[in-house]
Amino acid sequence: MKIARFSHDDGIHFGILDEGELVVLAGDPMFAGYETTGERVPLADAALLAPVIPRSKVVCVGKNYHEHAKEMGGEAPAEPLLFLKPNTAVVGPGDSIVRPVSLSDRTEHEGELVAVIGRIAKNVAAEDALDYVFGYTVGNDVTARDLQRRDGQWSRAKGFDTFCPLGPVIETEFDATSATIETRVDGEVRQHAPLSDMIHSVAEIIAYASAVFTLLPGDVIMTGTPAGVGELVAGDTVEVEVSGIGVLRNPVRDALPQP
Ligand code: MG
Repeated sequence: MKIARFSHDDGIHFGILDEGELVVLAGDPMFAGYETTGERVPLADAALLAPVIPRSKVVCVGKNYHEHAKEMGGEAPAEPLLFLKPNTAVVGPGDSIVRPVSLSDRTEHEGELVAVIGRIAKNVAAEDALDYVFGYTVGNDVTARDLQRRDGQWSRAKGFDTFCPLGPVIETEFDATSATIETRVDGEVRQHAPLSDMIHSVAEIIAYASAVFTLLPGDVIMTGTPAGVGELVAGDTVEVEVSGIGVLRNPVRDALPQP
């Protein structure tokens, strides 16, 4: 099932994608289940939003693909390398990624599979961890690469507003072991990998992270990016596609000068 969050008329709704239409739900299915209102909205009339607004945190894993760890100039760490992005960085499909050009010289894309947590998770075992996943979406862990290298830790580099596009939908029945991820910039393929190339699986990451943080419904886990990260410039359109979920498409622009 593909779940979208969207605006239509003057309201924000959740819906199930069904043959080019959205079957409107009575509430947020993560909390309210799948009761429908009886209304259907053509997809073309709906403005898709980020399918989830993380209640508390965006948990990310660095260097979770060997070839990407190499291109960053090192080996992959033995354990998942966790960091956080603020939830204020989240934007939806079609929203602009805004390059913070007064503070950074280089903004890069990182296409990633994203797991959406659906139940409170603390100290869960890897073999049970997927029971805590509501579904999966697509994300772009946008990064100010120069600040990442300069700061030594990544809060600024990963945390700018608009640096966490999510969408277009949440797929609730997704097998992360048999899909592929691809990132394209203006149609040119920059990143392409099977998700099976991940070093630490979604289940292992959730188990590892939940030993540290309590994961709340609506928190998201960004599972790392494959090789091929590269620069985004104003005027680009970046697409991240995970087969079986969809295409997350965002234009890129520069921040306006501050008065
Ligand atoms: Mg990343």
